[in-house]
Amino acid sequence: MRPKLVAGNWKMHGGTIQNRELLAAIVAGTEGLSGIGLTVCVPYPYLSQAQSVLQHTAVSWGAQNLSQHDKGAYTGEVSAAMLTDFGCRYVIVGHSERRALYGEDNHTVALKFKAAQTAGLIPVLCIGETLDQRAAAVTEQVVAEQLDTVIDLMGIDALAESVLAYEPVWAIGTGKTATPQQAQDVHGFIRSRIAANSRGVANELQILYGGSVKANNAAELFAMPDIDGGLIGGASLVADEFITICRAAKN
Ligand code: PEP
Repeated sequence: MRPKLVAGNWKMHGGTIQNRELLAAIVAGTEGLSGIGLTVCVPYPYLSQAQSVLQHTAVSWGAQNLSQHDKGAYTGEVSAAMLTDFGCRYVIVGHSERRALYGEDNHTVALKFKAAQTAGLIPVLCIGETLDQRAAAVTEQVVAEQLDTVIDLMGIDALAESVLAYEPVWAIGTGKTATPQQAQDVHGFIRSRIAANSRGVANELQILYGGSVKANNAAELFAMPDIDGGLIGGASLVADEFITICRAAKN
């Protein structure tokens, strides 16, 4: 059985004082929750704080983006090696907000995936369709293309060292969650598509669901056979909500 993973995505939220309280509450509230993975992806300036609070705990930390380049004249960018310097385990790549607001296309996302893995980070690759694409019944085509660009560049085995997050764009930050069956249908499609290349990779790969996961809907989503945890935005900023979601992954 695949272990579940709950990943918080703080987006552009936080401050040293509130982070200290939130991180301490998460550590205390998830203590003893063995057998699942827990991580928080924080804004770059707080990686050092996350590292100092979370080292020696069961909660890991990561970033929300990285450059596809190793180093050089890329003002404002952050490399994979810089993230490993601060002990990051995970890095989100291809979040829909990066795709929509910063023009990251499938090829750029694949290059970021490569940069992350080359440095020893675990990329959390986000894929998902917009509302218009769902209405046009092209969800499977969209997620297949997003996935295939990475597989074409990296090969199927590279997926074994990554995490996927299916995040329907229409469910992110909107309070509209996919029903467990809607999510399961796409997760099942993704896993079977990967299985066509490698059954072993498909069986091992953690596929998270993201999109308005809250304390009151996490358990039913996580109960679906191909949902291996969640990528949590808004609810990861509220200690009680996030802890309840982590507990739901354990049950
Ligand atoms: C996210 O940021 O990836 C996300 C799923 O956000 P939210 O949980 O707020 O919908």
